[in-house]
Amino acid sequence: MTTPTYVTAAYLLAALLFILALAGLSKHETARRGNAFGITGMTIALLATVGLMVENARAVGGGSRLWTALGLLVVAMAIGAAIGVWRARSVEMTGMPELIALMHSFVGLAAVLVGWNSYLEHPGHGLGDALTRIHSGEVIIGVFIGAVTFTGSIVAYLKLSAKMKSSPLMLPGRHWLNLAALLIITGLTIWFIAAPALWMLAVATVVSLLLGWHLVASIGGGDMPVVVSMLNSYSGWAAAAAGFMLGNDLLIVTGALVGSSGAYLSYIMCKAMNRSFISVILGGFGSDGQVTGEAKDYGDHREVTADGAAELLKDADSVIITPGYGMAVAQAQYPVAELTRKLREAGKTVRFGVHPVAGRLPGHMNVLLAEAKVPYDVVLEMDEINDDFPETDVVLVIGANDTVNPAAEDPGSPIAGMPVLEVWKAKDVVVFKRSMATGYAGVQNPLFFNENTQMLFGDAKDRVEDIVKAL
Ligand code: NDP
Repeated sequence: MTTPTYVTAAYLLAALLFILALAGLSKHETARRGNAFGITGMTIALLATVGLMVENARAVGGGSRLWTALGLLVVAMAIGAAIGVWRARSVEMTGMPELIALMHSFVGLAAVLVGWNSYLEHPGHGLGDALTRIHSGEVIIGVFIGAVTFTGSIVAYLKLSAKMKSSPLMLPGRHWLNLAALLIITGLTIWFIAAPALWMLAVATVVSLLLGWHLVASIGGGDMPVVVSMLNSYSGWAAAAAGFMLGNDLLIVTGALVGSSGAYLSYIMCKAMNRSFISVILGGFGSDGQVTGEAKDYGDHREVTADGAAELLKDADSVIITPGYGMAVAQAQYPVAELTRKLREAGKTVRFGVHPVAGRLPGHMNVLLAEAKVPYDVVLEMDEINDDFPETDVVLVIGANDTVNPAAEDPGSPIAGMPVLEVWKAKDVVVFKRSMATGYAGVQNPLFFNENTQMLFGDAKDRVEDIVKAL
């Protein structure tokens, strides 16, 4: 049956609101408004979909079928909403990346299930020749994208939550394995479109699941930011594929929006990390994944107390703070904001240098600093501040490690080529962390052993509070 006009109008409005949401989310100042647009769009979309379902059920006789469908929908939405609210309320900010990875996996799984359901409903007959081919193509491509997204996101979840080692899985002939999987899937797709059969869909599903798992498992910890945004993009394409299979225009548009904005974000992340987009998509193709720099002896490190760091700050005119994942773990953003306020009141220039992949989510540090009400105009991107370190008196590295690691200049390092905040060029550097442990990429950091670096050990929140008191 044809879609009623009011549903089409509601879908158009929802799509428009999703576009406004994306535009709003691209800037701090407008992010809240963007979020509100997204929520409104999703509410309209849900109501319109329920309306569509009612119309469809009416067209085939209504009655008990309509009530069963509505009942199932309400129960499913209530369970989903209850789990969603519980997770959103209980998740720590540091647990957000793995939660997001898990959510991407749900989108992938949904696309696989929709594909299977769609095939079992019309297993290659009753639609006419051309339509059957189009339908078969939608099904197998949708299942492929969904399955890769599903297992890839599960591996990302395991790596981000440290349930699996973040170092790359180096199977012998791994690129040939990926190529073989792609060839099998391509062959099966062509065959399935010509003459669909259940076994082909089953084999394509299994091979796609294995491919998704292997692609992400072969990528090292340092490249995980790109993987996370790429899976975000894949989840969009999986939703769009489900939209084609379900004949739902809004799902196609929304999926394409998520898919293309995620792809653009991945491109930005690749540029920020000086990585080849293609290499990361192909499971680290072109990198040998060797980890070096671990066993090097860089000499001794120097330590400083909170009082000593406060003295350095009293004498400084210009200060740059470079936050990292440790600031999120310690929830140190509030005392950091307080420290910033005090230093600015004392007439010092205080700015923040935020690396594009600091933390575990794109924009992670910006969100924390905004939450603690640090003024936006003193929070600068890496490119905006990297040339200013030589003229800076004190740099406070708060829970950052990989993003300030000069080992990136060593061609043998796993983070080789990744642009980093060149904090070591400042007069004095104070590093806040709890031990000499490595960062997420597992690479030792020579910065900690420099002449002008002093380590301030302990929980970042406690140590910053100590400094605020000492000032
Ligand atoms: P890192 O993860 O490299 O290092 C964080 C440091 O914080 C650790 O060395 C740790 O040292 C310290 N730390 C942890 N808890 C505390 C605490 N309570 N108090 C003080 N220090 C603490 O951080 P960066 O932000 O510099 O780098 C981000 C890394 O994450 C990069 O490798 C990036 O590629 C990766 N990544 C980023 C994503 C993104 O989208 N932004 C997504 C996925 C991965 P110690 O244990 O000694 O205290």
